[in-house]
Amino acid sequence: SLILGIESSCDETAAAVVRDGYQVLSSCVASQIAKHAVHGGVVPELAAREHLVALNPVVEGALREAGVTMKEIDAIAVTQGPGLIPALLVGLSFAKGLAMGNGKPLIGVNHFIAHIYGAFLDEAHGVLENPATYPLLALVVSGGHTSLMLIERDGKARQLGCTIDDAAGEALDKGAKLLGLGYPGGPIMQKTAEGGDPHKYEFPRPLTGGAGKPLAPENLYNFSFSGIKTALLYHVKHHAGADGKLPAELLQDTVASYQEAVVDVLTRKTLLAAKNFGAKTIVVAGGVACNSVLRERFEALTPKHVQLRLAARKYCTDNAAMVGGLGWHYHRKQAYSPLNIDSFARLPQITQVPFLGE
Ligand code: ATP
Ligand code: MG
Ligand code: FE
Repeated sequence: SLILGIESSCDETAAAVVRDGYQVLSSCVASQIAKHAVHGGVVPELAAREHLVALNPVVEGALREAGVTMKEIDAIAVTQGPGLIPALLVGLSFAKGLAMGNGKPLIGVNHFIAHIYGAFLDEAHGVLENPATYPLLALVVSGGHTSLMLIERDGKARQLGCTIDDAAGEALDKGAKLLGLGYPGGPIMQKTAEGGDPHKYEFPRPLTGGAGKPLAPENLYNFSFSGIKTALLYHVKHHAGADGKLPAELLQDTVASYQEAVVDVLTRKTLLAAKNFGAKTIVVAGGVACNSVLRERFEALTPKHVQLRLAARKYCTDNAAMVGGLGWHYHRKQAYSPLNIDSFARLPQITQVPFLGE
């Protein structure tokens, strides 16, 4: 079956055609980054208006690239949430219109689960069906989320922990902004850090139970990334020259050390959870999973008996292939959404993933 996926939860307008849940025939992404960069971050109303303009050409592009017509599409899957409501509403309304106009079923999918599913695209069906894959531990690390989710073979899921303040991507974005490096911060920070000394400066590793600060058990798998940004602010103030800015020669080591603190906490907590819950697979997904230092660290530290699945970079940041792929699992159960579904901003409690179980 062919599923058309549509994504508009943040600042990328995306459409994709996916066959039978895994085979990505096309994945088109129109990024609005340039439009938002001048504001130093994503402006929800601006995002909504850009989606309104981009959606039709992006969907047409995805169909054309896949070499299929709307007639051949079996169902339309669309991101329902979490995300920016004005942005979500445009994609959701567009998908409803398309579904109604073409007599196709509609499937509302969860963007957070779609990020996890992105790690399985372009793969044979076997991996998810194989009992040896479970328990599966997923780290979703993006601009809005930093979460550890444990998933069993039958699809039963529980969130082990999440950030109690900023997401890791947010920490990188805000850090870059503070240093005047531009938006989005993640890729810029990675580039700036290249060749720098990641151990030159010691940025905090919150909720890791360091010196004299015992960690509350409920925070064992939680994250906190707002303190590191404050530490960067003090670091800049401490080293500032007459112009109040960080001297250029300290920038590289500063960014490398900052990025290292983020990577260190993410990998340590994930590997601790994997060990304590006997995970057979670790999935790393979401925009920050693009980060080379994070990927290399996971590759270096993941024990041999644990399968590491780093989502392909093109499926880490927002895309619609992960939406169309996930949508197929609803389609095969004919679990369609009514045309009056609403968008949602926050992640609901997840107890079952839709791509496993009956
Ligand atoms: P969410 O999925 O949580 O709603 P989002 O959709 O904005 O948020 P994604 O598109 O999945 O998130 O990821 C964007 C985030 O990924 C940004 O914070 C960005 O800085 C970060 N990012 C992208 N590339 C890299 C990289 N190479 N290194 C680190 N961070 C990166
Ligand atoms: Mg984005
Ligand atoms: Fe996302």
